[in-house]
Amino acid sequence: MVDQQLLIDEVKKVVSRDDVKYVIGYKKGTSGFAISPAFAYSTEYADKFIFNPLCKKNLAAYPLLEDKLPLKREEKEDKRKIGIVAKGCDTRALVQIIQEKGLKREDLVIIGIPCSGIIDHKKITAKFPNETAYSTIEEEQGFYKITINGKVHEIAKEELLADFCSSCIAPNPVIYDVLIGEEVEPWNLEEHKNLAVLEEKDVGERWEYWKEHFDRCIRCYACREACPLCYCKECMADLLNPQWIRRSVNLSENTAWNIMRAYHLAGRCVGCGECESVCPVNIPLMELNKEIEKDVKKMFEYSAGMDLEEKPLFGTFRPDDPEEFIM
Ligand code: SF4
Ligand code: SF4
Ligand code: SF4
Repeated sequence: MVDQQLLIDEVKKVVSRDDVKYVIGYKKGTSGFAISPAFAYSTEYADKFIFNPLCKKNLAAYPLLEDKLPLKREEKEDKRKIGIVAKGCDTRALVQIIQEKGLKREDLVIIGIPCSGIIDHKKITAKFPNETAYSTIEEEQGFYKITINGKVHEIAKEELLADFCSSCIAPNPVIYDVLIGEEVEPWNLEEHKNLAVLEEKDVGERWEYWKEHFDRCIRCYACREACPLCYCKECMADLLNPQWIRRSVNLSENTAWNIMRAYHLAGRCVGCGECESVCPVNIPLMELNKEIEKDVKKMFEYSAGMDLEEKPLFGTFRPDDPEEFIM
C-alpha cells in the first residue's frame, strides 16, 4: 500500500519548486468508484491527492495535451517542468513518448509509484451496482478491503484485478525522480486472458470472433482519446482529404479503424488497458494489443517503453534482419 501522506508531502515538495508549473496525479471522483485526474498548482490542492488500487488512468497522456492548446495573444510559453505521479505502465508510456521525441525527459519530474495491480472498474461496479461512495480501499494479503457506509467488504484480489495486470512486465516505475515506498516483487506472469483460445482457432473462426466485436463498435474514438500513445496531431481516421476511412459506422469501416489503430500501436503499446476500459461496448481490445505485443517480442525481442536509451522499434533498422515477411 502506498503511504498517502508520503505521496501528499512529495507532491507538495514538487509543486513548490520554482521550475515546476503543476503536478498531475489522482483524486477521488464525484461518485461511486470513480477516480479523477488531479492537477495541483498549489500545495493546498496537493492534499486532495490519493493513490489506491482504483487509480487506473494512465496519466502520461496529459503532458501531451498542453501542446494542443494555442497560446493567447501576448501569452508566453511556460517552459517550466510538469510533475507527474506515475505507476509502471505510466512510466513505460512516458519512456515511449520520450523515445519518439513527443516529450523531453528534462521537462518532467516523475513521482514513481510501485503498483501491485489495479481494480477493473467494470468488475467492481458490477459487484456493488448501487453504491454511490466508498470511504477507503486497501489491499491486504490477496484481498481488497473496501469500506462502504462503515461496512468492510473483503473481496479476493483475483475477483477484481484488471485482466491486463496479470501479464504486466513492469509494475515498478521504469524511470522516476523520486519513488514513493518500496518496489513491489514482480509476480508470475500469465498470458492475457483468451489469447491461447484465440490462437487455437483457424482464420475463419477468428474472423467470426472479431466480426461480432467490431460490428458493435460505435466509432466514438474513446479508445484513441484515452490512449497515451495515440497522440498524432492529425489522426488518419479524421482526415477528409484523402479520406482513408469513411465516417459511416458499419462492419467494414469499423474493422478498418480497429485494425489500423492496433497496428499503429504495434511495438508502442505499453499494455495499460486504458483503451479497453473506456470502450462503451466492451470490445476486448487488449486481446488484440496483447497478441501484437507477443509477436513483437517474438520477432524483435522488444518490449515498448522499457529503456530510455533504446530507439523506438520502428525507428531502427538492422542490416541482419531476416525480413521473412518478404515473399
Ligand atoms: S499494467 Fe502494471 S503498472 Fe499498469 S496498472 Fe497493471 S500492474 Fe500496475
Ligand atoms: S472505444 Fe470501443 S466503440 Fe469506441 S471507437 Fe474504440 S473500439 Fe469502437
Ligand atoms: S493501446 Fe491501449 S493498452 Fe496500449 S498503450 Fe494505448 S491505451 Fe494502453
